Amino acid sequence: MKYNPVTPKIISELENIVGLKNVITRPEELYVYSRDSTIFEHSPDVVVIPKTAEQVSEILKLANREKIPVVPRGAGTSASGSPIPIMGGIVLDMSRNDKILEIDSHNLTVEVESGVVCDLLNEELAKHGFFFPPDPASSPACTIAGMVANNSAGNMAMKYGTTRDHVLWLEVVLPTGEIIQTGSTTIKSVSQFDLTRLMVGSEGQLGVITKVGLKLTPLPEHHATAFFIFKTVEDAAKAAVRVRSTMTTIPCMLEFLNETTTRAAFDYAGLEYPVGYTIILDFDGAKDTAEADLEAGFKLCEKENPIYKEKAKDAAHRTQLLTARKAALPALARLRPTTCMEDCTVQITKLPQAAKAIEEIPARLGAEDFMDLGNFGHIGDGNMHPTFCFDERIEEQRDVFFKGMDILYEDIILPLGGSVTGEHGIGLIRAKYIDREHGDASVKIMRGIKKLFDPNMILNPGKGKGG
Ligand SMILES: Cc1cc2nc3c(=O)[nH]c(=O)nc-3n(C[C@H](O)[C@H](O)[C@H](O)COP(=O)(O)OP(=O)(O)OC[C@H]3O[C@@H](n4cnc5c(N)ncnc54)[C@H](O)[C@@H]3O)c2cc1C
Repeated sequence: MKYNPVTPKIISELENIVGLKNVITRPEELYVYSRDSTIFEHSPDVVVIPKTAEQVSEILKLANREKIPVVPRGAGTSASGSPIPIMGGIVLDMSRNDKILEIDSHNLTVEVESGVVCDLLNEELAKHGFFFPPDPASSPACTIAGMVANNSAGNMAMKYGTTRDHVLWLEVVLPTGEIIQTGSTTIKSVSQFDLTRLMVGSEGQLGVITKVGLKLTPLPEHHATAFFIFKTVEDAAKAAVRVRSTMTTIPCMLEFLNETTTRAAFDYAGLEYPVGYTIILDFDGAKDTAEADLEAGFKLCEKENPIYKEKAKDAAHRTQLLTARKAALPALARLRPTTCMEDCTVQITKLPQAAKAIEEIPARLGAEDFMDLGNFGHIGDGNMHPTFCFDERIEEQRDVFFKGMDILYEDIILPLGGSVTGEHGIGLIRAKYIDREHGDASVKIMRGIKKLFDPNMILNPGKGKGG
């Protein structure tokens, strides 16, 4: 696909739509929009900061007419390269579209603009006794539309689902400029093809989300939490499988940190415990029930012979443990100049095999001298984040990293019937594995859907499923 350059005339049209101060063209400011949390980099030609769906519509009509690429962006925390404008063009910074519009505690819904930050929404919802459960570790920064576009999830997805399970309706501006509302404000609706679910996880390739209607979830009364440290990765994974496949209650969290991540995260959080493979187990609900569930889960984990086990003493201790878990990536980032966080899922019964094979990647690469491999994540739903720590500035190390990705996905995850992304999306970094995961016929349908929404292929080109 050939795109046209952004000319001074187009910049002046953009200024007419959003106002002079909401158009950025200085290279040093454009650079801020050239990266996410991956190693890819490309600056846009211009950044536009719209406030309303109507402004987004005008911008997209202009871009569609002139065949200029447009990339929507929330907070730019993506771990897939999805908000990087690899073809240049316009970045739409949606952060000014950031109002919580209505919390409806009778119908159990909330209506927000796209750029509302996840933690700020949860702070507001907590005042009403509710929460929005998907809880990515990037929640202090990431936006609701970024979460919708990536179908983000977090510690509690096993029990409460991913972002997709909480979205009722969306206001979306199509690449051709039409504004549509998908879904319904009602809790149930099955009237025709589900455009809401199609938009969720579409990585900014099918439309620009301007408003989101979410379901509300009541805050649980109590959390009961424990953690265990195991000598081997297999023991930790087996404990997780035991809890998931034996208990009739679904834990709220069942999180994992490998030895490298445990060391880094405990050090980061100032926690002093033996170092090994860590599992954090948490149940929520009525106090008696949550404590009884934890007791049952505790006994199951003990069967895999942890070298350390402890129940969280109080809310402060629990917060300390969860803070260490949430800080896994920043903690690993202190080990080497570059951290690349991957995102794979397998069925829970395949966790011990997958987790062990992942631990062996640096040795298979002969890279132990210059590469650390963290691994952590939501082991309770089979989702792990192997994290390569190296130095992207050294070409040889970059090459080894990409070989490590191939081992991870082509030799370990796909042969086990897993998926190359549980919650971070395809973006740039995992695009090469889609054909193998889905097969030619399915990918052809995905490309057809993209073409239907975006005939001139202007929206977030070169990414993921749509090509
Ligand atoms: C430290 C760290 C921890 C993380 N932890 C987690 C985790 O636990 N779970 C998890 O799921 N992810 C995690 N991530 C990945 C990332 O933070 C999430 O995917 C997040 O939801 C992205 O939100 P964002 O606002 O930063 O979106 P961006 O990074 O700006 O964009 C992400 C995608 O959404 C699209 N997009 C953004 N806004 C719109 C819009 N208005 N309309 C249409 N498309 C749009 C973009 O084009 C892009 O394709 C983590 C990242 C970091 C750096």
